[in-house]
Amino acid sequence: MAAVAEENETETKIESACYYKAIIIGAGIAGISAAHHLVKNGETDFKILEARNRIGGRIVSIPLGEDQVDLGASWIHGVLGNPIYELAVSNRLINLTNDQDPHAVVATTEEGKRVPISVVEEVYNAYFWFSKRCEEYFLLHLQTPPQIDSVGKHLEMDIAAYLQQYEGDDVVMRRKVFDHLLSRETCITGCHSMDETSLSEFGSYTELPGGNVRIPGGFSLVIDLLADILPKECIRLQCEVKHIKWKMKKQNESSKESNPSCDGAASNQIVIECNDGTKWHAKHVIVTLPLGVLKAKAEELFEPKLPEYKIECLENLSFGVVNKIYLEYDRPFLNAEISEVITLWARTEETDMSKIWFRKIYSFRRYTENILLAWISGHEAEFLETLSEEQVATTCTDILRKFLNDPYVPKPCKVVCTSWKSHPFSRGSYTYIGVKGSQRDIDLLATPIYADPYHSKPALMFAGEATHSSFYSTTHGAFLSGKKCAELLLEPDSDSNHKHEKNQQCTTDKDMSSWIRGIDLS
Ligand SMILES: Cc1cc2nc3c(=O)[nH]c(=O)nc-3n(C[C@H](O)[C@H](O)[C@H](O)COP(=O)(O)OP(=O)(O)OC[C@H]3O[C@@H](n4cnc5c(N)ncnc54)[C@H](O)[C@@H]3O)c2cc1C
Repeated sequence: MAAVAEENETETKIESACYYKAIIIGAGIAGISAAHHLVKNGETDFKILEARNRIGGRIVSIPLGEDQVDLGASWIHGVLGNPIYELAVSNRLINLTNDQDPHAVVATTEEGKRVPISVVEEVYNAYFWFSKRCEEYFLLHLQTPPQIDSVGKHLEMDIAAYLQQYEGDDVVMRRKVFDHLLSRETCITGCHSMDETSLSEFGSYTELPGGNVRIPGGFSLVIDLLADILPKECIRLQCEVKHIKWKMKKQNESSKESNPSCDGAASNQIVIECNDGTKWHAKHVIVTLPLGVLKAKAEELFEPKLPEYKIECLENLSFGVVNKIYLEYDRPFLNAEISEVITLWARTEETDMSKIWFRKIYSFRRYTENILLAWISGHEAEFLETLSEEQVATTCTDILRKFLNDPYVPKPCKVVCTSWKSHPFSRGSYTYIGVKGSQRDIDLLATPIYADPYHSKPALMFAGEATHSSFYSTTHGAFLSGKKCAELLLEPDSDSNHKHEKNQQCTTDKDMSSWIRGIDLS
């Protein structure tokens, strides 16, 4: 895509006077998917405006040592019905015969004491069912118990009842394993604490069967594949959208005459202004901005302001912070059979973040022979973003030496930490439904907006992971949401006198998510 970046510099102001059928804001997987489907169907009258100097958004693979590591998405979540899996398999990005690494864990305490794997397995098993119980409220339309509005509270209730059968050290040991699982769950969900996650909506996220599959060459290969068929001039990088004027008055005939090059102006009623001074005109806009960006910027971005229901759903939905820490070593030091070191922390009363942030690290996982990966969520993940690589390297080495009871654990030669919260074009990691929110908020966020009720197609369409009601937070959810918007644009223009119902969904319900939902309900 370097060619695209160079292209930007030579593009002249003539382009800023051009008109497109559609503008796509954001070149993450949702935007690239929309563009891919447009081009595949012969539609090239569009432009993607992307603020960063690269495409991919929250999908970005970088070299570390001899390997590729993913700073954002790395797993294809689920196989059956997952379009990303289909894409990866048909393009040989994954090795079907060898995608299951043997997984052997060691679980240890701060004192370096090993906890028997039988205990870990027992607690994992109990936790699995406790979490399934939480999903049932949504799936079976059950009333949640009084005073229990969050997944965290419900899990604590089940954990407390479970631990009653044990005494002394047996309780302490199991409690630590439950706390490890709770920290892990916050990374999966994308929240700070499971106390923030809605109990009644927990089951709204649909898990596709088949487990998680990693793309050895890096997740960016999926973006490269999708972007491969796009004409290179259709993407403009380093172009931050500042204003979307989506209800412009129609140009009158006289102004059209004075500017004969603007033949399409009368029907291109949306004007997009960018930080580089360019202006773009279009009939339709597909907004794929991350929820974090919309939450922070929607008020100043849209003119006129978005309808009240849209502002409300932006407020109700939650955008969490999850970060990754990659530790690269000169040589492997973990026993070759161990793939994950589970860190079982004791609880602490300490509140000074500089003394506790690392206690949210629930494991160090072997990523490749020489690389370990730790995940961290919430306030602790935000604090991580303030630290230097040296500070993180020292802290992680201390942790590993203590937990493995081995003073010779080497220091990593390189540390890479992500900082999704501080990045202005992501402002967090992914969407979750907090206690204030509901799946309906996602549907409302996805609802397209018509500049005029008599228009046959919407002015503003919304895509991105935060707009998929059952696959939110994932790459496949983002991919499908972009495809849906493209399908709507590709539909033949119907009678312009056709009046649209309010809140019409941007959906043709042709994608696999509806199929999966159908299975779940049957
Ligand atoms: C740490 C982490 C781990 C993850 N792990 C997984 C995983 O294993 N599996 C999985 O399926 N998903 C995972 N995800 C989630 C997945 O990455 C996202 O759901 C998906 O990539 C979102 O795609 P998107 O197109 O909706 O948004 P984005 O990728 O965020 O794309 C939006 C684009 O808009 C651009 N933009 C922002 N502001 C402006 C502006 N003003 N003007 C123009 N452009 C703008 C951004 O630069 C960005 O390119 C992970 C995410 C993170 C952060």
